[in-house]
Amino acid sequence: MFDLSIALLRNAGLIAVVAVAYSVVPQRLKDNAIEAVILGVLFGLGAVLAMVDPVHLRPGLIVDSRTTLVILAGLFGGPVAAAISAALAIAYRLYLGGVGAYPGSLVIVLSALISLFGYYVLRRNGEKAVDFKILTIIALLSPFTTFAAFLLPWTIALRVLEDTFIPSSIVRVAGVLLLGTILIHERARRQAEQRIAELAGTDELCGLANRRAFYSALQRQIERSRRFNEPYCVIILDIDRFKSINDTHGHPTGDEVIRRLAEVLRRTCRETDVPARIGGEEFAVLLTNTSAGDGVNLAERIRSAVASEKIETRDETLSFTVSLGISSNHGMGMSLETVMTAADNALYISKNSGRNRVSAVDWETANALATAGLRY
Ligand code: GH3
Ligand code: MG
Ligand code: MG
Repeated sequence: MFDLSIALLRNAGLIAVVAVAYSVVPQRLKDNAIEAVILGVLFGLGAVLAMVDPVHLRPGLIVDSRTTLVILAGLFGGPVAAAISAALAIAYRLYLGGVGAYPGSLVIVLSALISLFGYYVLRRNGEKAVDFKILTIIALLSPFTTFAAFLLPWTIALRVLEDTFIPSSIVRVAGVLLLGTILIHERARRQAEQRIAELAGTDELCGLANRRAFYSALQRQIERSRRFNEPYCVIILDIDRFKSINDTHGHPTGDEVIRRLAEVLRRTCRETDVPARIGGEEFAVLLTNTSAGDGVNLAERIRSAVASEKIETRDETLSFTVSLGISSNHGMGMSLETVMTAADNALYISKNSGRNRVSAVDWETANALATAGLRY
C-alpha cells in the first residue's frame, strides 16, 4: 500500500506541470469562453499524460490522477471544460484497452459529474468563485469515482477496491486540494493584476479613465484612423467658474460636482466612447468612429445635460455648466498634439465668448457646428 501511494504521488506530480502550463497561458487569451476551452484541453492532456505513466495494479487495471484533472477542469471551467477534458481522457483510456477500459472511462464520467455538481450547485452556475470550502467538498467526493470498479466482475471489483480504495482516495483528495489551491491562487493573482491595471488607468475621484488611459486610447484611435481612414472627434470640456463653486460651497461640494459631471458623461456617451478626467476640473471625450456632425451633436447633448443637473447642497440647489471645445480628424493623418491643441483652442473660444457653449476651430468641425445652428 505504501508503494502504491508513492507511485500515485509521483503520478500526481504531473499536476504541478499542468498548473505551471496553465499559469503561463497569456492573460489576453483568457476571456471566459476561451478560458474554458484552454482549461479543458490542458487538463484533458494532463489526464492523458497521467495515464501514460500510471500505476499498474494488475494486467489491464491502472490507477492514476486523471480524476483530479477532470474534476478541476469542470469545477473551474464549467461544462465546456468538463466535456473537453473528459472526452480526451476517455478516448485515451479506451485506446489503452484492457479489462479496466470501461470502468476506467466510467471513473472519468463520474469525475466530470462531480465537477459539474461543484460548478452548478456549489458555485451557483459558476457565479461564486471556488473557495476552500467548495474545494474540500469536491475533494471528499472524489474517492467515490473508485466505485466505477463495480463494472468489473464482482469478485475482482471487491479485490481491486480492497487493494486500492484507501491509497487512491488519499491521492485523489490530496490531488484535488493541491492543484485546486494552486488554481485558486492563480486566479486571485490574475484578478489582482487586472485590478491594478484598471486602477492605473482610472481616476480615483470619479472613476472615469485618467489622463494616461485617455492618451493611450487616443493614440490607438489615431493609428486606426491612419489605417482605415476612420473619423473620430475629441471633446475637451472644463467646468465653468469652478473656483467660485469651491469657494462658495466648499471643496467637498466641488468634488461632488466633478463626480456628477462624470456621471453625465457616462450616461451621455456611447459604449465605445472614452470619457476621461484629464486634469483637476478638465475632462475629455474621445468619440470613436464619429463624424464631425455627430460629434457636434453629442457635445451639445453633453452641454445641455450638464446645465440641467441639480445638486442638492445643505442649504441650496446648485447647478453648474461646462464649456466645450471639439475637434475632429476627417480621415486626415493628424497627430495627437494637433487634435488636442485644436480642441483646447476651441475650448478657449468657448470660455472667452461667454462659457456654457461648444466651439470648434478647425474648418470642418466649425462648419458642422454652424450647420447644426450651434454657433452662439
Ligand atoms: P473657468 O470658467 O475659466 O474655467 O473658471 P474656473 O474657476 O473653473 O477656473 P480656474 O482654473 O481658475 O479654477 C479651477 C479650480 O478647480 C481651481 C482648483 O482649486 C479646482 N480644482 C481642481 N481640481 C479639483 C478637485 O479635484 N476638487 C475640487 N473640489 N476642486 C478642484
Ligand atoms: Mg480649468
Ligand atoms: Mg474651469
